[in-house]
Parts: sequence; C-alpha cells; structure tokens
Amino acid sequence: MILILAGCGKTLPARSEFMLGTICTINLYQGGTAALYGAVFARLRQIEERMSSNAVDTEVARVNQNAGIMPVKVSAEVIRVLSRALYYAELSGGAFDPTVDPLVKLWGIGTEYARVPEEEEIRGALALVDWREVVIDEEAGTVFLPQAGMGIDLGAIAKGYAADEAARLIKEAGVSEALIDLGGNIYALGTKAKGAPWRIAVQDPRSSRGTYIGVLELGEKSVVTSGVYERFLDAGDQHYHHILSTVDGYPAERGLLSVTVITDTSIDADALSTTLFVLGYEEGRALVDSLENVEAIFVFQDLSVRGTPGALDVFTLTNDQYRIVG
Ligand code: ADP
Ligand code: MG
Repeated sequence: MILILAGCGKTLPARSEFMLGTICTINLYQGGTAALYGAVFARLRQIEERMSSNAVDTEVARVNQNAGIMPVKVSAEVIRVLSRALYYAELSGGAFDPTVDPLVKLWGIGTEYARVPEEEEIRGALALVDWREVVIDEEAGTVFLPQAGMGIDLGAIAKGYAADEAARLIKEAGVSEALIDLGGNIYALGTKAKGAPWRIAVQDPRSSRGTYIGVLELGEKSVVTSGVYERFLDAGDQHYHHILSTVDGYPAERGLLSVTVITDTSIDADALSTTLFVLGYEEGRALVDSLENVEAIFVFQDLSVRGTPGALDVFTLTNDQYRIVG
C-alpha cells in the first residue's frame, strides 16, 4: 500500500511484528524505549484479540457465533469501533457495511479457501448483510445480531483504530515523533526534526510493495489506502479483490485501482478509504467534499489520478506511467 521513505535521527531501530493480519512497523524517534515498543505492540495485539473476525475466540467472533441467539458482552472499544463503522455505513448508504462478514467468508479472498461462489450463494450471503439490523446496547455493553448467519467484520476500520491507539500511547509516553505503519495504514506523529515534513509514498496499486506513484509531504496526519492489490484471487482471466460491493456481492468495480485518504484520525481514514473505493469517484468525491478536513487521491484503472485540491497540493507524482488529470 504505502511505504515510508527513510527517516533520520532515530534512537532505536524500528520494530516490526505480524499482527492485525499484516506487517506492523513502528518507528519511534527521539525518546523511544524498548519498553514503549513492547507496550504499543501489546496494545495492538489486544485490539486484534478483541476485534478480529478470523480467529475463533475474539469478542467479535463471539458476537458472530451468537447471531440469532443472544446478545454478547464486549469491551467498550469494540462498541466504539463498531459504532464508528455504523456511522460510515449510514453516511455511505450501506456501501461501507461492517455486517459484510458472510460475504467476506464466502469469497475467502486472502485465505486458502478463496473461490468464486455460485450466484445463489452470493444471494444468500447478501440477504444477511444489513448494518441497520445491528443492535447495540450501550448500557449493557452488548452487541446482538438478530439473524443466524449474520456477522461483523471490522477489517476495514480496526487497523485505523489500532493506529490511533498506538499514537495515543506513544504521545502519552512523551515521544513526539513517530511513524506507525500497520500494513500501509499510516499514522505520522509529530513533525520530524527541524520541522521537515513527513514524506509518505503512495504505493503503485499494480505492483507488489516497493514501487510507488508519488509522495505526500505532510505534518501530523494519517494516510490510508484501499486498493485492488492488497489481497486477491485470480480465477481464469478474472482478478477478484477483497473489497466487496454490498449491492451485488462481487468485488466492487468502479474503475478504480486505489483510493488514498488523508485526515487527522486513522479510524476515519481507514473507514473512508474503503468507503470511497466502494462508492467510486463521483459519489466518493461528493462525500469527501461534504466532510471537513478530509483529503483524497483516486487512482483509476487507466492510470489517471484525481484528487481533492488539498491532497494534490501536497502530492508529487514521481511515476511517469501515471498522470494527474485534476
Ligand atoms: P485492508 O484492510 O486490506 O488494508 P481495507 O481497509 O479497505 O483494506 O479493508 C478491506 C477489508 O474490509 C476486507 O478484507 C473485508 O474484511 C472488509 N470489507 C470488504 N468489503 C467491505 C465493505 N463493503 N464494507 C466494509 N468492510 C468491507
Ligand atoms: Mg479501510
């Protein structure tokens, strides 16, 4: 998705661990300690253990196992993240939908059981996808899915929340400069030494990690990309990616290769990058323009690039196969 260009002045080397289904790298600059690295990764692990829908014994998995049976007690932060997901579901008319789990499981993209499902199976799964049916009881601290077979998947938002939490811990420890990269879900904390901006590369969606289309120069911001290249299934001459349309149950096809969102909080950047990818340029751009302090870059299949003025102002295209058209 996005890679970070080299920083300088670090006291301890960056640390990477595989969690939240991806490679998570944290780079603490001035004042970072081994203990702080340990605390931040432990916190990320805790979030994964609560919010993953792939493992069997997480809080979200228990909510899913009890769909149609009974409400399940969850941590306050699961309710917080789910509520934010439901907010984006409402804002996008259900294009973003955290109850997409039955469809995600059916396709299995990114897993060893990935396959192209039958039409009938897709119809069956789609019938179980409806964010409006989720019942949150704030007082009891429970979540209930009323139909058996329903399921919650926070995969499009939990990494963003995790990045915000990492940033909070790092700031509380007094470290004022850090880069948090959860599989391309970036939070750039503080400003670099001498006030130089962060340089954050936007990954080329057509290739594996390592090549990029351009560079963003930013102060403290989160940058998150959703695209066709993260996880996919190739069957015949078709390339199926992992962001699904809740209208037809197939991978969302809007002529886009990727959408990058730049904003202050990573939970919002993460949810919005997925939302905009599903909505496509016209609707997605209208949504971004209606929001304060959110910038976006849309990369199209014909290698044209469009963005909000605030995004293009801080973006330098470095890959001549792409062209900015506005
Ligand atoms: P990634 O997590 O791969 O960086 P995203 O943030 O875009 O990328 O999240 C994609 C994940 O979100 C999928 O793997 C799936 O779990 C979930 N998802 C797929 N389609 C939707 C959708 N329409 N609304 C909400 N979540 C979705
Ligand atoms: Mg996302």
